[in-house]
Amino acid sequence: MTATIIDGKAIAAEIRSEVTAEAARMLESQGLVPGLATVLVGENPASETYVRMKQKACGDAGIQSFGHRLPEEASQEEVEALVRDLSDDPAVHGILVQLPLPRHLDEEAVLGAIALQKDVDGFHPVNIGRLAMKGRAPLFVPCTPRGIIELLERTGAMIEGAEAVVLGRSNIVGLPVSMLLLHRNATVTICHSRTRDLASVTRRADILVAAVGQPEMVRGGWIKPGAVVIDVGVNRVEDPAAKHGYRLVGDVAFDEVVEVASAVSPVPGGVGPMTIAMLLQNTLVAAQLQVAEELPVPG
Ligand code: NAP
Repeated sequence: MTATIIDGKAIAAEIRSEVTAEAARMLESQGLVPGLATVLVGENPASETYVRMKQKACGDAGIQSFGHRLPEEASQEEVEALVRDLSDDPAVHGILVQLPLPRHLDEEAVLGAIALQKDVDGFHPVNIGRLAMKGRAPLFVPCTPRGIIELLERTGAMIEGAEAVVLGRSNIVGLPVSMLLLHRNATVTICHSRTRDLASVTRRADILVAAVGQPEMVRGGWIKPGAVVIDVGVNRVEDPAAKHGYRLVGDVAFDEVVEVASAVSPVPGGVGPMTIAMLLQNTLVAAQLQVAEELPVPG
């Protein structure tokens, strides 16, 4: 079998054009420009790149972006004060604090200072708490996990009743995507660095999500024939032939897995573009919600 390649770039482009059209409509009908504030603390080069990409995507979609930078040594009070100011700013509808924060900062407290209705990254403790519970709806769901579900759904993967295995239990990807799969009635197994005999667990998976940050760890022999595989990993591996001396690979040995799975997302061009598309969509929804709240109650 040769798997279908899940084209995250094309799906993300579709979503981005829907967001762009809706932002234009909001501007015309309400004179409203959705606004996203990004908060970057320190000088992590990967974080700088991610924030730049998010700001550019905002510009392309007609969303205003407000970039805020604080130095590596910024205090807890300074970071929280900035987040609170942005929470009060009516031009800002969404707030994204780029993670990870420098180690001396209390991430939970910073994220907790974001106004709930502006938490477009979905990491506010209340939104994550609601996501973890049955029958509670978070206002926003974290962008990468949402993007993964969107890829599965648009690929036509049957989630309900499926055996889903998630490799990784991080707050950013593994845990929230496990919750989303569970809410959609998959039977979910979460694996991590202490899981014994990973391959015997992954071979049960109808849906496999790999989010471990280990280059090409998932081999062809780990896959159940016909499974749908979503590769979240973004890993740099040395490659003297590549322009910058390295290339990006996922957590999945693509060339092997493509021979066994029914569908697989590539790296790059799979989950990555979806993360940004979901952020734009969440920001648009945040603006719509906040404007709706300001409207006078009819009658
Ligand atoms: P993370 O916080 O480092 O978590 C990695 C998880 O994988 C942990 O739960 C860890 O287990 C587990 N793990 C690590 N090595 C393992 C091994 N050999 N066997 C089994 N489990 C192992 O990483 P993350 O933030 O979730 O990110 C995961 C990957 O996704 C990274 O490559 C990251 O760059 C990528 N990513 C991509 C996007 C995107 O938009 N495309 C967004 C976010 C992340 P323990 O819990 O036991 O330590």
